Amino acid sequence: MDDCIFCRIVRGEIPSPRLYEDDDLIAIRDIQPVAPVHVLLIPKRHFADLLEQGRAPEGPAVAAAVARALPAVAAAAGLPGGGFRLVTNCGPSAGQTVMHLHHHLIGGRDLGPKLL
Ligand code: AMP
Ligand code: ZN
Repeated sequence: MDDCIFCRIVRGEIPSPRLYEDDDLIAIRDIQPVAPVHVLLIPKRHFADLLEQGRAPEGPAVAAAVARALPAVAAAAGLPGGGFRLVTNCGPSAGQTVMHLHHHLIGGRDLGPKLL
């Protein structure tokens, strides 16, 4: 995925300080934060979205790696109050603009009512 922006960040071609990194994913701060804490968890492997991940043989292992990394990412992000919301947009109609799977970890303020 030569021109995928998140693949380029993963490869280090676009400098972006990493809050967290392991073999499977990186976590970086979003450039247009919607809250005091807005971190992106980005699998190193290119999946266009959640559905592509789910269909790939190695996809569930990457999903598990994200779950395993969350405590360390949340600690590194610094979350006053402790709570956060994890959001994954899947597809343009759901607001996904970068077609490389990523999860938004949002917090650092009262997030208000639930989405649904
Ligand atoms: P989504 O709309 O769910 O696809 O989210 C894409 C997110 O990536 C947006 O919140 C953007 O602000 C963020 N973003 C795009 N380019 C960069 C970048 N170079 N570094 C950090 N965040 C980025
Ligand atoms: Zn990519």
